[in-house]
Parts: sequence; structure tokens; C-alpha cells
Amino acid sequence: MKIFCVGRNYAEHAIELKNEIPTEPVIFIKPKSALLPDNLPFYYPEFTNELHYECELVFRISKNGKYIRDYRAGKYIDAVTVGIDFTARDIQNELKKKGLPWEKAKAWDHSAILGEWIELGDIDQKNPIEFSMELNDVTVQNGNSKNMIFPVGKIIENISRYFALHIGDIIYTGTPAGVGECVVGDHLCGYIGNEKLFDLDIK
Ligand code: ZN
Repeated sequence: MKIFCVGRNYAEHAIELKNEIPTEPVIFIKPKSALLPDNLPFYYPEFTNELHYECELVFRISKNGKYIRDYRAGKYIDAVTVGIDFTARDIQNELKKKGLPWEKAKAWDHSAILGEWIELGDIDQKNPIEFSMELNDVTVQNGNSKNMIFPVGKIIENISRYFALHIGDIIYTGTPAGVGECVVGDHLCGYIGNEKLFDLDIK
């Protein structure tokens, strides 16, 4: 199983990190070992002093495919949730400065948090999907799929040009603005609409 992530997919977030707005999806991959298993606690990693949350819509691939066109992409996903693409921002800034790959900032063990899946058949897909995250009971991120620079169909089209997609692969579709730091003792909750899909303590 592969974990794809999209960088800079919301204009306001690209601006808040002083990045250019991309003309093609920015894609990176986390290994399977980046997923935090359901039954395990999340520990603040010892190698960073600036752990950032990025709450994102995540889609699940339900059909194998390659060279998938955007208008067909809906047939290749069957569930959505929210997750966190945890980022060691201090490390990422160093790597970016040197033009080096991001794995040490983005792909470490348990850097990918996943909420409970909602079957796409259970939601009205004509409407954009609203999601949010609370840090210690205060909403810090609000996102809406309609504000994505590249909607999920375009993302799937682009990814599948380079990588075959397989059943069970997942795609983090990028964070809206409002990313920020979290520390030991913080409590993070992610929502689609009013439905709470993850609840995480930083230990
Ligand atoms: Zn992200």
C-alpha cells in the first residue's frame, strides 16, 4: 500500500509558507510505516523542535489503475476521511533550503494519522466536502474541497501517470491554511462536517 500526499494544494496555505502556487500537483510519498496504527499512542518525535499539524482530506483507492483520466477518477475512490500529515517543519525548512528531499521531515514513523473512513456512497458528492480540525477544542483549520487548486480527479490523473494505483492506496490531498505547531499534551480532533473522525493526544 502506498500513501500519496499533495503539497501546496490550497492557495492560502502556499502563501502562508511563502511557496509559489503550483501549476502541476506537488506529490510526495510516505511509506506504509508512516501510518499510526489505531491502537498505538502518538509520541512527539525526538528529532524535531517544531512539529506542525496539517489536517487534510484523505481518499481511499478502491480499484487498480494507471493513466486514469480525471473524469473517470470517481470510479477509483470509495471512501474519504480526514487525517494529519505531520511535518517536522524545522527539518523541512532546512531540507528545502538545501534543495534536498523531504522524507526526514514528512515520511517518518507515525507521521500519517488517519480518521475513520466514510463511504463515499454515504455522502452527497455533488456538494463540496467541508472539514476542520480542533487543537485543544479551538478550531484552527477549516477546509473545503472546493478550494483545492487540484481537485481529487486531477490529482488521481496526475499521480496515475507516474505510479500505478492499487486498491488500498490512500491520498492526502493537501492542507488548507492554518497549519501550526503542536506540543506534548495537545489534543487534536478532525471533522468532516460535524462528524468527528479522529481524536489524538500528543504524548
Ligand atoms: Zn500536507
